[in-house]
Amino acid sequence: MIIGGGVVKLKRLWVVCPACGRKVEAVATDGRVKGYCAVRGQYVDFPVDINMPPMPPSFAGKHHTPESKAKMAASRQKYLRSQLESS
Ligand SMILES: [Zn+2]
Repeated sequence: MIIGGGVVKLKRLWVVCPACGRKVEAVATDGRVKGYCAVRGQYVDFPVDINMPPMPPSFAGKHHTPESKAKMAASRQKYLRSQLESS
């Protein structure tokens, strides 16, 4: 792969290949993203709007949700009740 022009800023990024669904390293130039698809065995253009999210949704939202707060409140009530019953 030859990229001409020394002034072109290259940006390396990871994209999900629409052809095979694999994560491949790609190079962004002039609003175009080119990456090597191992399955196709050649460099292919990727849609520019493919951006890897910084984190999978499952890892996000570590802060307390209303659900976890309710869980905590319930366990606290349970603890208090057990204390009352034991005395
Ligand atoms: Zn691919």
